[in-house]
Amino acid sequence: MSLTQSKVELKKYLMHINGEWTGKDLDQLEVTNPANGRAVGTVPNGGEAEANEAIEAAHEAFQTWSQLTVYERGGYLKKLHQSILNHEEELAQIMTAEMGKPIKESRGEVGYSATFIEWYAEEGKRIYGETIPSHVGNKRMQVWKKPVGVVAAITPWNFPLAMLARKMGPALAAGCTIVIKPSSESPLSAVKLVELCEEVGFPKGVINLVTGSSSKIGKAIMENDKVRKITFTGSTEVGKTLIKQSADQVKRLSMELGGHAPLIVLDDANVDTAVKGALDSKFRNTGQTCVCANRIYVQSGIHDEFVEKFAAAVKKLKVGNGADDTIEVGPLINQSGLEKVVHHVDDALAKGAKLEAGGERISLDGGTFYAPTVISNVDPEMIVMQEETFGPVAPIQKIESIEEAVALANDTPYGLAAYVFTESVAKGTKLIEQLNFGIVGWNDGLPSAAQAPFGGMKESGIGKEGGHEGLEAYLESQYVAIGLD
Ligand code: NAP
Repeated sequence: MSLTQSKVELKKYLMHINGEWTGKDLDQLEVTNPANGRAVGTVPNGGEAEANEAIEAAHEAFQTWSQLTVYERGGYLKKLHQSILNHEEELAQIMTAEMGKPIKESRGEVGYSATFIEWYAEEGKRIYGETIPSHVGNKRMQVWKKPVGVVAAITPWNFPLAMLARKMGPALAAGCTIVIKPSSESPLSAVKLVELCEEVGFPKGVINLVTGSSSKIGKAIMENDKVRKITFTGSTEVGKTLIKQSADQVKRLSMELGGHAPLIVLDDANVDTAVKGALDSKFRNTGQTCVCANRIYVQSGIHDEFVEKFAAAVKKLKVGNGADDTIEVGPLINQSGLEKVVHHVDDALAKGAKLEAGGERISLDGGTFYAPTVISNVDPEMIVMQEETFGPVAPIQKIESIEEAVALANDTPYGLAAYVFTESVAKGTKLIEQLNFGIVGWNDGLPSAAQAPFGGMKESGIGKEGGHEGLEAYLESQYVAIGLD
Protein backbone atom coordinates (compact mmCIF):
# COMPACT_ATOMS: atom_id res chain seq x y z
CA MET A 1 0.00 0.00 0.00
CA SER A 2 1.19 3.48 -0.72
CA LEU A 3 0.65 7.09 0.41
CA THR A 4 2.42 8.69 -2.56
CA GLN A 5 1.41 12.27 -3.32
CA SER A 6 0.31 13.44 -6.76
CA LYS A 7 2.77 15.52 -8.79
CA VAL A 8 -0.07 17.53 -10.34
CA GLU A 9 -0.47 21.04 -8.94
CA LEU A 10 -3.86 22.53 -8.14
CA LYS A 11 -4.85 24.56 -11.19
CA LYS A 12 -7.81 26.44 -12.63
CA TYR A 13 -8.69 24.80 -15.97
CA LEU A 14 -10.97 26.57 -18.49
CA MET A 15 -13.40 25.75 -21.30
CA HIS A 16 -12.43 26.22 -24.93
CA ILE A 17 -14.94 27.88 -27.24
CA ASN A 18 -14.21 29.25 -30.70
CA GLY A 19 -10.47 29.30 -30.08
CA GLU A 20 -10.73 31.14 -26.74
CA TRP A 21 -10.13 29.87 -23.20
CA THR A 22 -13.18 30.97 -21.31
CA GLY A 23 -15.35 30.52 -18.19
CA LYS A 24 -13.11 31.94 -15.48
CA ASP A 25 -15.93 34.18 -14.23
CA LEU A 26 -18.42 31.32 -13.87
CA ASP A 27 -18.85 29.22 -10.72
CA GLN A 28 -16.11 26.62 -10.61
CA LEU A 29 -16.46 22.86 -10.01
CA GLU A 30 -13.79 21.17 -7.96
CA VAL A 31 -12.15 17.99 -9.22
CA THR A 32 -10.76 15.78 -6.45
CA ASN A 33 -8.31 12.91 -6.32
CA PRO A 34 -10.15 9.77 -5.15
CA ALA A 35 -6.91 8.45 -3.65
CA ASN A 36 -7.02 11.10 -0.92
CA GLY A 37 -9.98 13.43 -1.45
CA ARG A 38 -7.72 16.41 -2.21
CA ALA A 39 -8.60 18.99 -4.87
CA VAL A 40 -6.49 18.76 -8.04
CA GLY A 41 -8.17 21.42 -10.15
CA THR A 42 -11.34 23.31 -11.00
CA VAL A 43 -13.37 23.69 -14.19
CA PRO A 44 -16.10 26.21 -15.03
CA ASN A 45 -19.66 25.18 -14.29
CA GLY A 46 -20.96 25.90 -17.79
CA GLY A 47 -24.53 25.44 -18.96
CA GLU A 48 -26.86 26.07 -21.90
CA ALA A 49 -25.41 29.45 -22.94
CA GLU A 50 -21.86 28.12 -23.16
CA ALA A 51 -22.97 24.96 -24.95
CA ASN A 52 -24.88 26.98 -27.55
CA GLU A 53 -21.89 29.28 -28.07
CA ALA A 54 -19.71 26.22 -28.66
CA ILE A 55 -22.25 24.73 -31.09
CA GLU A 56 -22.38 28.00 -33.08
CA ALA A 57 -18.59 28.07 -33.26
CA ALA A 58 -18.46 24.45 -34.40
CA HIS A 59 -21.13 25.13 -37.02
CA GLU A 60 -19.23 28.12 -38.40
CA ALA A 61 -15.95 26.18 -38.46
CA PHE A 62 -17.62 23.22 -40.18
CA GLN A 63 -18.12 25.31 -43.33
CA THR A 64 -14.35 25.47 -43.93
CA TRP A 65 -13.03 22.38 -42.07
CA SER A 66 -15.27 20.07 -44.08
CA GLN A 67 -13.90 21.58 -47.30
CA LEU A 68 -10.26 20.77 -46.54
CA THR A 69 -8.83 17.71 -48.23
CA VAL A 70 -8.50 14.56 -46.15
CA TYR A 71 -4.74 14.98 -46.53
CA GLU A 72 -4.91 18.42 -44.90
CA ARG A 73 -7.11 17.19 -42.05
CA GLY A 74 -4.88 14.14 -41.62
CA GLY A 75 -1.89 16.48 -41.35
CA TYR A 76 -3.39 18.18 -38.28
CA LEU A 77 -4.16 14.79 -36.74
CA LYS A 78 -0.62 13.53 -37.30
CA LYS A 79 0.77 16.58 -35.50
CA LEU A 80 -1.66 15.94 -32.65
CA HIS A 81 -0.60 12.28 -32.48
CA GLN A 82 3.03 13.31 -32.04
CA SER A 83 2.12 15.98 -29.51
CA ILE A 84 0.19 13.47 -27.37
CA LEU A 85 3.23 11.19 -27.34
CA ASN A 86 5.50 14.13 -26.47
CA HIS A 87 3.25 14.95 -23.48
CA GLU A 88 2.73 11.36 -22.32
CA GLU A 89 3.96 11.87 -18.77
CA GLU A 90 2.06 15.12 -18.17
CA LEU A 91 -1.19 13.67 -19.50
CA ALA A 92 -0.72 10.49 -17.46
CA GLN A 93 -0.06 12.41 -14.24
CA ILE A 94 -3.21 14.51 -14.73
CA MET A 95 -5.29 11.41 -15.42
CA THR A 96 -4.08 9.57 -12.33
CA ALA A 97 -4.58 12.65 -10.16
CA GLU A 98 -8.14 13.28 -11.31
CA MET A 99 -9.52 9.74 -11.31
CA GLY A 100 -7.07 7.47 -9.50
CA LYS A 101 -5.89 5.13 -12.28
CA PRO A 102 -2.48 3.55 -11.58
CA ILE A 103 0.13 5.65 -13.38
CA LYS A 104 1.39 2.74 -15.49
CA GLU A 105 -2.13 2.30 -16.84
CA SER A 106 -2.49 6.04 -17.39
CA ARG A 107 0.67 6.02 -19.51
CA GLY A 108 -0.79 3.09 -21.40
CA GLU A 109 -4.02 5.00 -21.96
CA VAL A 110 -2.12 7.98 -23.37
CA GLY A 111 -0.38 5.72 -25.89
CA TYR A 112 -3.66 3.96 -26.70
CA SER A 113 -5.36 7.34 -27.25
CA ALA A 114 -2.60 8.40 -29.63
CA THR A 115 -3.19 5.29 -31.76
CA PHE A 116 -6.74 6.43 -32.53
CA ILE A 117 -5.54 9.83 -33.72
CA GLU A 118 -2.80 8.30 -35.87
CA TRP A 119 -4.99 5.55 -37.32
CA TYR A 120 -7.76 7.92 -38.39
CA ALA A 121 -5.25 10.43 -39.78
CA GLU A 122 -4.47 7.65 -42.28
CA GLU A 123 -7.90 6.08 -42.61
CA GLY A 124 -9.44 9.41 -43.68
CA LYS A 125 -7.68 8.87 -47.02
CA ARG A 126 -9.89 5.84 -47.61
CA ILE A 127 -13.26 7.59 -47.49
CA TYR A 128 -14.34 6.07 -50.79
CA GLY A 129 -17.71 6.55 -52.40
CA GLU A 130 -19.23 4.04 -54.82
CA THR A 131 -20.06 3.75 -58.49
CA ILE A 132 -23.12 1.59 -59.12
CA PRO A 133 -23.87 0.02 -62.52
CA SER A 134 -26.98 1.64 -63.96
CA HIS A 135 -29.94 -0.30 -65.37
CA VAL A 136 -30.26 2.22 -68.25
CA GLY A 137 -27.72 3.70 -70.62
CA ASN A 138 -28.50 7.37 -70.01
CA LYS A 139 -27.91 7.38 -66.27
CA ARG A 140 -24.91 7.20 -63.97
CA MET A 141 -25.32 6.22 -60.33
CA GLN A 142 -22.91 7.16 -57.56
CA VAL A 143 -22.67 7.30 -53.78
CA TRP A 144 -20.87 10.31 -52.37
CA LYS A 145 -19.68 10.56 -48.77
CA LYS A 146 -20.29 13.67 -46.66
CA PRO A 147 -19.36 14.47 -43.05
CA VAL A 148 -22.43 14.29 -40.84
CA GLY A 149 -21.92 17.83 -39.45
CA VAL A 150 -21.41 19.20 -35.94
CA VAL A 151 -20.81 16.38 -33.46
CA ALA A 152 -21.43 16.49 -29.71
CA ALA A 153 -19.10 14.09 -27.87
CA ILE A 154 -20.10 13.16 -24.31
CA THR A 155 -17.48 11.09 -22.49
CA PRO A 156 -17.22 9.12 -19.21
CA TRP A 157 -14.75 9.46 -16.35
CA ASN A 158 -13.16 5.99 -16.53
CA PHE A 159 -11.07 6.53 -19.69
CA PRO A 160 -11.00 10.33 -19.78
CA LEU A 161 -8.57 10.52 -22.70
CA ALA A 162 -9.07 7.35 -24.76
CA MET A 163 -12.86 7.64 -25.01
CA LEU A 164 -12.39 11.16 -26.35
CA ALA A 165 -9.59 10.30 -28.78
CA ARG A 166 -11.69 7.40 -30.11
CA LYS A 167 -14.36 9.96 -31.09
CA MET A 168 -12.17 12.91 -32.09
CA GLY A 169 -9.93 10.95 -34.47
CA PRO A 170 -12.65 9.72 -36.82
CA ALA A 171 -14.94 12.76 -36.44
CA LEU A 172 -12.19 15.22 -37.40
CA ALA A 173 -10.85 12.98 -40.18
CA ALA A 174 -14.35 12.75 -41.68
CA GLY A 175 -14.64 16.56 -41.76
CA CYS A 176 -16.89 17.06 -38.75
CA THR A 177 -16.33 19.70 -36.08
CA ILE A 178 -16.87 18.87 -32.44
CA VAL A 179 -18.26 20.04 -29.10
CA ILE A 180 -16.84 18.01 -26.22
CA LYS A 181 -18.59 17.48 -22.87
CA PRO A 182 -16.29 15.49 -20.55
CA SER A 183 -17.43 13.95 -17.27
CA SER A 184 -17.35 16.34 -14.32
CA GLU A 185 -15.53 13.63 -12.34
CA SER A 186 -12.47 13.75 -14.63
CA PRO A 187 -12.56 16.68 -17.08
CA LEU A 188 -8.91 17.75 -16.75
CA SER A 189 -7.39 15.23 -19.19
CA ALA A 190 -9.81 16.47 -21.85
CA VAL A 191 -8.85 20.10 -21.21
CA LYS A 192 -5.17 19.20 -21.53
CA LEU A 193 -5.85 17.35 -24.80
CA VAL A 194 -7.65 20.40 -26.20
CA GLU A 195 -4.66 22.53 -25.17
CA LEU A 196 -2.50 20.26 -27.33
CA CYS A 197 -4.98 20.60 -30.21
CA GLU A 198 -4.64 24.37 -29.97
CA GLU A 199 -0.84 24.16 -29.88
CA VAL A 200 -0.68 22.08 -33.04
CA GLY A 201 -2.84 24.66 -34.81
CA PHE A 202 -6.35 23.28 -35.37
CA PRO A 203 -8.43 26.20 -36.70
CA LYS A 204 -10.64 27.96 -34.17
CA GLY A 205 -14.08 26.46 -33.65
CA VAL A 206 -13.13 23.00 -34.96
CA ILE A 207 -12.66 21.61 -31.42
CA ASN A 208 -14.67 23.12 -28.57
CA LEU A 209 -14.92 21.95 -24.99
CA VAL A 210 -17.66 22.78 -22.48
CA THR A 211 -17.54 21.69 -18.83
CA GLY A 212 -20.25 21.81 -16.19
CA SER A 213 -23.85 20.72 -15.70
CA SER A 214 -24.51 17.60 -17.75
CA SER A 215 -28.27 18.10 -17.79
CA LYS A 216 -28.06 21.76 -18.94
CA ILE A 217 -25.35 21.14 -21.52
CA GLY A 218 -27.17 17.98 -22.64
CA LYS A 219 -30.41 19.95 -23.06
CA ALA A 220 -28.71 22.58 -25.24
CA ILE A 221 -27.09 19.87 -27.37
CA MET A 222 -30.40 18.08 -27.86
CA GLU A 223 -32.41 21.21 -28.65
CA ASN A 224 -29.95 22.80 -31.06
CA ASP A 225 -30.59 21.51 -34.57
CA LYS A 226 -27.06 22.46 -35.65
CA VAL A 227 -25.85 19.38 -33.75
CA ARG A 228 -26.34 16.51 -36.19
CA LYS A 229 -24.71 13.71 -34.26
CA ILE A 230 -24.38 12.60 -30.64
CA THR A 231 -21.52 10.27 -29.81
CA PHE A 232 -21.87 9.11 -26.23
CA THR A 233 -19.88 6.78 -24.00
CA GLY A 234 -21.30 6.14 -20.56
CA SER A 235 -23.94 4.24 -18.67
CA THR A 236 -26.88 2.49 -20.31
CA GLU A 237 -29.22 4.53 -18.10
CA VAL A 238 -28.01 7.92 -19.38
CA GLY A 239 -27.68 6.49 -22.90
CA LYS A 240 -31.37 5.60 -22.93
CA THR A 241 -32.29 9.14 -21.86
CA LEU A 242 -30.18 10.59 -24.68
CA ILE A 243 -31.69 8.20 -27.23
CA LYS A 244 -35.19 9.39 -26.24
CA GLN A 245 -34.16 13.06 -26.28
CA SER A 246 -32.52 12.75 -29.69
CA ALA A 247 -35.76 11.56 -31.33
CA ASP A 248 -37.24 15.04 -31.78
CA GLN A 249 -34.55 16.07 -34.25
CA VAL A 250 -33.64 12.55 -35.41
CA LYS A 251 -30.00 13.16 -34.56
CA ARG A 252 -27.49 10.50 -35.59
CA LEU A 253 -26.33 8.39 -32.64
CA SER A 254 -23.33 6.35 -31.58
CA MET A 255 -23.86 4.81 -28.16
CA GLU A 256 -21.10 3.01 -26.23
CA LEU A 257 -22.88 1.89 -23.07
CA GLY A 258 -22.53 -0.37 -20.05
CA GLY A 259 -21.38 -3.97 -19.98
CA HIS A 260 -21.62 -7.10 -17.84
CA ALA A 261 -18.95 -9.27 -19.39
CA PRO A 262 -18.88 -13.04 -18.85
CA LEU A 263 -15.50 -14.78 -18.76
CA ILE A 264 -15.74 -18.50 -19.52
CA VAL A 265 -12.98 -20.97 -18.72
CA LEU A 266 -13.43 -24.48 -20.19
CA ASP A 267 -11.79 -27.65 -18.83
CA ASP A 268 -9.19 -27.72 -21.59
CA ALA A 269 -8.00 -24.13 -21.03
CA ASN A 270 -4.39 -23.35 -20.23
CA VAL A 271 -4.99 -22.37 -16.62
CA ASP A 272 -2.12 -19.88 -16.45
CA THR A 273 -3.33 -18.12 -19.60
CA ALA A 274 -6.84 -18.01 -18.13
CA VAL A 275 -5.62 -16.62 -14.79
CA LYS A 276 -3.61 -13.91 -16.56
CA GLY A 277 -6.52 -13.07 -18.86
CA ALA A 278 -8.92 -12.84 -15.92
CA LEU A 279 -6.50 -10.59 -13.99
CA ASP A 280 -6.02 -8.29 -17.01
CA SER A 281 -9.67 -8.09 -17.78
CA LYS A 282 -11.00 -7.83 -14.22
CA PHE A 283 -8.60 -5.57 -12.34
CA ARG A 284 -7.51 -3.04 -14.97
CA ASN A 285 -8.62 0.42 -13.86
CA THR A 286 -9.65 -1.08 -10.49
CA GLY A 287 -12.40 -3.04 -12.21
CA GLN A 288 -13.93 0.13 -13.61
CA THR A 289 -13.99 -0.60 -17.34
CA CYS A 290 -17.03 -1.31 -19.48
CA VAL A 291 -15.34 -4.50 -20.73
CA CYS A 292 -14.26 -5.77 -17.30
CA ALA A 293 -15.01 -9.44 -16.69
CA ASN A 294 -17.96 -9.13 -14.34
CA ARG A 295 -18.97 -12.80 -14.10
CA ILE A 296 -16.54 -15.71 -14.28
CA TYR A 297 -17.84 -19.17 -15.24
CA VAL A 298 -15.37 -22.04 -14.80
CA GLN A 299 -15.99 -25.64 -15.87
CA SER A 300 -15.88 -28.15 -13.00
CA GLY A 301 -12.77 -30.05 -14.16
CA ILE A 302 -10.52 -26.97 -13.89
CA HIS A 303 -12.53 -24.97 -11.33
CA ASP A 304 -10.58 -25.64 -8.13
CA GLU A 305 -7.18 -25.15 -9.73
CA PHE A 306 -8.30 -21.91 -11.39
CA VAL A 307 -9.80 -20.51 -8.16
CA GLU A 308 -6.69 -21.35 -6.17
CA LYS A 309 -4.22 -19.82 -8.67
CA PHE A 310 -6.42 -16.81 -9.42
CA ALA A 311 -7.02 -15.97 -5.74
CA ALA A 312 -3.28 -16.33 -5.01
CA ALA A 313 -2.47 -13.88 -7.83
CA VAL A 314 -5.16 -11.42 -6.71
CA LYS A 315 -3.83 -11.40 -3.14
CA LYS A 316 -0.48 -10.17 -4.51
CA LEU A 317 -1.95 -7.10 -6.28
CA LYS A 318 -0.60 -3.91 -4.77
CA VAL A 319 -3.26 -1.36 -3.77
CA GLY A 320 -2.71 2.34 -3.19
CA ASN A 321 -2.37 5.82 -4.65
CA GLY A 322 -1.90 5.30 -8.39
CA ALA A 323 0.77 8.01 -8.52
CA ASP A 324 3.20 5.39 -7.15
CA ASP A 325 4.78 3.46 -10.04
CA THR A 326 4.45 0.13 -8.24
CA ILE A 327 0.68 0.33 -7.64
CA GLU A 328 -1.58 -2.07 -9.56
CA VAL A 329 -5.02 -1.24 -8.11
CA GLY A 330 -6.10 2.31 -7.26
CA PRO A 331 -9.18 3.76 -5.53
CA LEU A 332 -12.80 3.62 -6.70
CA ILE A 333 -13.87 6.84 -8.43
CA ASN A 334 -16.00 8.08 -5.52
CA GLN A 335 -17.88 7.11 -2.38
CA SER A 336 -20.95 5.85 -4.21
CA GLY A 337 -18.75 3.67 -6.44
CA LEU A 338 -17.24 2.20 -3.26
CA GLU A 339 -20.66 1.67 -1.63
CA LYS A 340 -21.87 -0.22 -4.71
CA VAL A 341 -18.92 -2.62 -4.46
CA VAL A 342 -19.53 -3.16 -0.72
CA HIS A 343 -23.22 -3.81 -1.40
CA HIS A 344 -22.50 -6.38 -4.14
CA VAL A 345 -20.00 -8.32 -2.00
CA ASP A 346 -22.17 -8.21 1.16
CA ASP A 347 -25.18 -9.43 -0.80
CA ALA A 348 -23.22 -12.33 -2.31
CA LEU A 349 -21.72 -13.42 1.04
CA ALA A 350 -25.13 -13.21 2.73
CA LYS A 351 -26.54 -15.50 0.03
CA GLY A 352 -23.85 -18.16 0.47
CA ALA A 353 -20.81 -17.10 -1.59
CA LYS A 354 -17.36 -18.05 -0.31
CA LEU A 355 -14.68 -15.40 0.15
CA GLU A 356 -11.39 -16.45 -1.50
CA ALA A 357 -9.53 -13.10 -1.36
CA GLY A 358 -10.11 -9.51 -0.21
CA GLY A 359 -13.66 -8.63 0.78
CA GLU A 360 -12.99 -5.46 2.76
CA ARG A 361 -12.51 -1.70 2.49
CA ILE A 362 -8.97 -0.46 2.85
CA SER A 363 -8.50 2.57 5.04
CA LEU A 364 -5.73 4.62 3.44
CA ASP A 365 -5.22 8.40 3.35
CA GLY A 366 -8.97 9.13 3.10
CA GLY A 367 -9.18 7.39 -0.30
CA THR A 368 -11.97 5.15 -1.63
CA PHE A 369 -10.03 1.87 -1.62
CA TYR A 370 -11.39 -1.68 -1.68
CA ALA A 371 -9.29 -4.82 -1.56
CA PRO A 372 -9.14 -6.86 -4.80
CA THR A 373 -11.70 -9.55 -4.12
CA VAL A 374 -12.47 -13.07 -5.32
CA ILE A 375 -15.66 -14.88 -4.34
CA SER A 376 -16.61 -18.41 -5.37
CA ASN A 377 -19.78 -20.49 -5.03
CA VAL A 378 -21.84 -17.64 -6.51
CA ASP A 379 -25.16 -18.10 -8.29
CA PRO A 380 -27.31 -16.03 -10.69
CA GLU A 381 -29.54 -14.77 -7.84
CA MET A 382 -26.74 -12.63 -6.42
CA ILE A 383 -26.66 -8.95 -7.48
CA VAL A 384 -23.00 -9.29 -8.43
CA MET A 385 -24.05 -11.69 -11.23
CA GLN A 386 -26.82 -9.40 -12.47
CA GLU A 387 -25.41 -5.85 -12.52
CA GLU A 388 -22.24 -4.09 -13.62
CA THR A 389 -20.22 -3.94 -10.35
CA PHE A 390 -17.62 -1.48 -11.65
CA GLY A 391 -15.11 -2.45 -8.99
CA PRO A 392 -12.35 -4.95 -8.11
CA VAL A 393 -14.61 -7.93 -7.43
CA ALA A 394 -14.35 -11.26 -9.29
CA PRO A 395 -17.29 -13.63 -8.69
CA ILE A 396 -16.78 -17.24 -9.86
CA GLN A 397 -19.54 -19.73 -10.63
CA LYS A 398 -18.84 -23.41 -11.32
CA ILE A 399 -20.41 -24.74 -14.54
CA GLU A 400 -20.64 -28.22 -16.05
CA SER A 401 -21.06 -27.73 -19.80
CA ILE A 402 -20.68 -25.37 -22.77
CA GLU A 403 -24.48 -25.24 -23.08
CA GLU A 404 -24.74 -24.03 -19.49
CA ALA A 405 -22.02 -21.41 -20.13
CA VAL A 406 -23.86 -20.07 -23.18
CA ALA A 407 -27.22 -19.89 -21.39
CA LEU A 408 -25.79 -18.09 -18.36
CA ALA A 409 -23.57 -15.74 -20.37
CA ASN A 410 -26.38 -14.59 -22.67
CA ASP A 411 -28.90 -14.18 -19.84
CA THR A 412 -28.44 -10.40 -19.57
CA PRO A 413 -29.70 -7.28 -21.34
CA TYR A 414 -26.06 -6.32 -21.95
CA GLY A 415 -23.91 -7.46 -24.88
CA LEU A 416 -20.58 -5.62 -24.87
CA ALA A 417 -17.62 -7.95 -24.21
CA ALA A 418 -17.11 -11.62 -23.40
CA TYR A 419 -14.00 -13.73 -22.80
CA VAL A 420 -13.45 -17.38 -23.60
CA PHE A 421 -10.52 -19.54 -22.50
CA THR A 422 -10.09 -22.88 -24.27
CA GLU A 423 -7.31 -24.53 -26.26
CA SER A 424 -9.83 -26.24 -28.54
CA VAL A 425 -10.46 -24.42 -31.83
CA ALA A 426 -13.66 -26.37 -32.37
CA LYS A 427 -15.11 -25.72 -28.90
CA GLY A 428 -14.03 -22.06 -28.92
CA THR A 429 -15.52 -21.44 -32.35
CA LYS A 430 -18.86 -23.09 -31.54
CA LEU A 431 -19.08 -21.32 -28.18
CA ILE A 432 -18.29 -17.85 -29.54
CA GLU A 433 -20.77 -18.24 -32.39
CA GLN A 434 -23.51 -18.54 -29.77
CA LEU A 435 -22.45 -15.56 -27.63
CA ASN A 436 -24.39 -12.32 -28.14
CA PHE A 437 -21.54 -9.93 -27.41
CA GLY A 438 -19.92 -7.34 -29.69
CA ILE A 439 -16.34 -8.07 -28.60
CA VAL A 440 -14.88 -11.46 -27.69
CA GLY A 441 -11.41 -12.09 -26.29
CA TRP A 442 -10.41 -15.74 -26.98
CA ASN A 443 -7.47 -16.55 -24.72
CA ASP A 444 -7.06 -12.75 -24.57
CA GLY A 445 -8.01 -10.46 -21.68
CA LEU A 446 -7.21 -7.20 -23.51
CA PRO A 447 -8.81 -7.26 -26.99
CA SER A 448 -9.24 -3.49 -27.68
CA ALA A 449 -7.28 -1.83 -30.52
CA ALA A 450 -7.74 1.29 -32.66
CA GLN A 451 -8.02 -0.69 -35.90
CA ALA A 452 -10.75 -3.07 -34.63
CA PRO A 453 -14.49 -2.38 -34.20
CA PHE A 454 -15.46 -1.84 -30.55
CA GLY A 455 -19.11 -1.72 -29.53
CA GLY A 456 -21.96 -3.58 -27.95
CA MET A 457 -25.03 -5.56 -28.87
CA LYS A 458 -28.40 -5.27 -27.08
CA GLU A 459 -28.45 -2.60 -24.32
CA SER A 460 -24.69 -2.10 -24.54
CA GLY A 461 -24.96 0.27 -27.44
CA ILE A 462 -25.51 1.30 -31.02
CA GLY A 463 -22.69 1.43 -33.57
CA LYS A 464 -18.95 0.81 -33.41
CA GLU A 465 -15.88 2.85 -32.58
CA GLY A 466 -12.48 1.92 -33.98
CA GLY A 467 -11.64 0.44 -37.36
CA HIS A 468 -13.27 1.53 -40.60
CA GLU A 469 -16.72 1.30 -39.00
CA GLY A 470 -15.65 3.99 -36.55
CA LEU A 471 -15.11 6.40 -39.44
CA GLU A 472 -18.32 5.43 -41.21
CA ALA A 473 -20.18 6.60 -38.08
CA TYR A 474 -19.32 10.23 -38.95
CA LEU A 475 -20.29 10.03 -42.62
CA GLU A 476 -23.56 10.28 -44.51
CA SER A 477 -24.05 8.45 -47.81
CA GLN A 478 -25.51 10.66 -50.51
CA TYR A 479 -26.85 8.77 -53.52
CA VAL A 480 -26.53 10.80 -56.72
CA ALA A 481 -28.35 9.73 -59.89
CA ILE A 482 -26.98 11.59 -62.95
CA GLY A 483 -29.22 11.84 -66.01
CA LEU A 484 -27.18 12.20 -69.21
CA ASP A 485 -29.85 13.37 -71.71
P1 NAP B 1 -22.54 8.32 -17.00
O1 NAP B 1 -22.94 8.65 -15.62
O2 NAP B 1 -23.56 7.78 -17.92
O3 NAP B 1 -21.89 9.65 -17.60
C1 NAP B 1 -21.30 9.67 -18.88
C2 NAP B 1 -21.25 11.09 -19.40
O4 NAP B 1 -22.60 11.55 -19.60
C3 NAP B 1 -20.61 12.09 -18.44
O5 NAP B 1 -19.93 13.07 -19.19
C4 NAP B 1 -21.81 12.72 -17.75
O6 NAP B 1 -21.52 14.01 -17.27
C5 NAP B 1 -22.78 12.79 -18.91
N1 NAP B 1 -24.20 12.89 -18.55
C6 NAP B 1 -24.82 12.41 -17.45
N2 NAP B 1 -26.15 12.71 -17.50
C7 NAP B 1 -26.34 13.40 -18.67
C8 NAP B 1 -27.48 13.99 -19.30
N3 NAP B 1 -28.70 13.93 -18.75
N4 NAP B 1 -27.32 14.62 -20.48
C9 NAP B 1 -26.10 14.68 -21.06
N5 NAP B 1 -24.98 14.15 -20.51
C10 NAP B 1 -25.10 13.50 -19.34
O7 NAP B 1 -21.34 7.25 -17.03
P2 NAP B 1 -19.99 7.29 -16.22
O8 NAP B 1 -20.29 6.96 -14.79
O9 NAP B 1 -19.21 8.53 -16.52
O10 NAP B 1 -19.18 6.07 -16.89
C11 NAP B 1 -19.32 4.75 -16.49
C12 NAP B 1 -20.25 4.01 -17.43
O11 NAP B 1 -19.76 4.14 -18.77
C13 NAP B 1 -20.29 2.52 -17.18
O12 NAP B 1 -21.61 2.07 -17.28
C14 NAP B 1 -19.43 1.93 -18.30
O13 NAP B 1 -19.74 0.61 -18.63
C15 NAP B 1 -19.72 2.88 -19.41
N6 NAP B 1 -18.64 2.87 -20.40
C16 NAP B 1 -18.88 2.30 -21.62
C17 NAP B 1 -17.86 2.24 -22.56
C18 NAP B 1 -18.07 1.61 -23.90
O14 NAP B 1 -17.21 1.79 -24.76
N7 NAP B 1 -19.16 0.90 -24.13
C19 NAP B 1 -16.59 2.76 -22.25
C20 NAP B 1 -16.39 3.34 -21.00
C21 NAP B 1 -17.44 3.39 -20.10
P3 NAP B 1 -21.29 14.29 -15.69
O15 NAP B 1 -20.23 13.33 -15.23
O16 NAP B 1 -20.82 15.70 -15.69
O17 NAP B 1 -22.61 14.07 -15.03
